Amino acid sequence: KFITIEGTEGVGKTTNMAFVQDYLQQLGVDLLVTREPGGTPLAEQLRELLLAKRDESVDPTAELLMVFAARAQHLNTVIKPALATGKWVLCDRFTDATYAYQGAGRSLPLDTIAKLEQLVQGEIRPDMTFILDIDVRLGLERAGRRGELDRFETEEIGFFERVRSMYQQRAAASPNNYRVIDAGQELEKVQRDLSAELTALFGA
Ligand code: C5P
Ligand code: MG
Repeated sequence: KFITIEGTEGVGKTTNMAFVQDYLQQLGVDLLVTREPGGTPLAEQLRELLLAKRDESVDPTAELLMVFAARAQHLNTVIKPALATGKWVLCDRFTDATYAYQGAGRSLPLDTIAKLEQLVQGEIRPDMTFILDIDVRLGLERAGRRGELDRFETEEIGFFERVRSMYQQRAAASPNNYRVIDAGQELEKVQRDLSAELTALFGA
């Protein structure tokens, strides 16, 4: 199985990735844990380039192509080979993030993203995606407190509202492949909700 976790800034993605990893490994799943953009040396270099603070603003189409370039490398050299040997893959962000950040956030045409998705992925899509959903201001405040904000911190609040809304729309359109978790709750409650979903989906 191919499982992804998504969300806007400050949702607690890192903490909850570790939680999902533990849960699956306790079930005895042979799991590869990885992330996007990144997951291979080349793709991690592209990630550094994408996230660096610089004077030059990044052209949205250039950003889109860098994200998909990283994804092609990651998918073909890491994710597909792992799935082919029967491993499960847990990935921190995938193409939903591209629809959300580059599509909704940067206003790039969704049909262009769909074409690149087809080119890079063929028929490969995550089997299940957990969307950690939080009020945008609350999330940014949390991320800011943890000193986690990168060049995206300079975006308008509206940017993150569009990103969040795209995640919600994509989840609503394919309820079989998405679970939306209220990440504004205390961590204990978030993880109780995650456990319940994981047990229903994969539990013994
Ligand atoms: O997942 P993580 O928070 O580490 O992502 C790092 C940064 O990259 C975040 O600011 C995220 O919003 C941004 N990003 C992006 N487009 C993607 C994936 C991530 O703008 N497709
Ligand atoms: Mg993070």
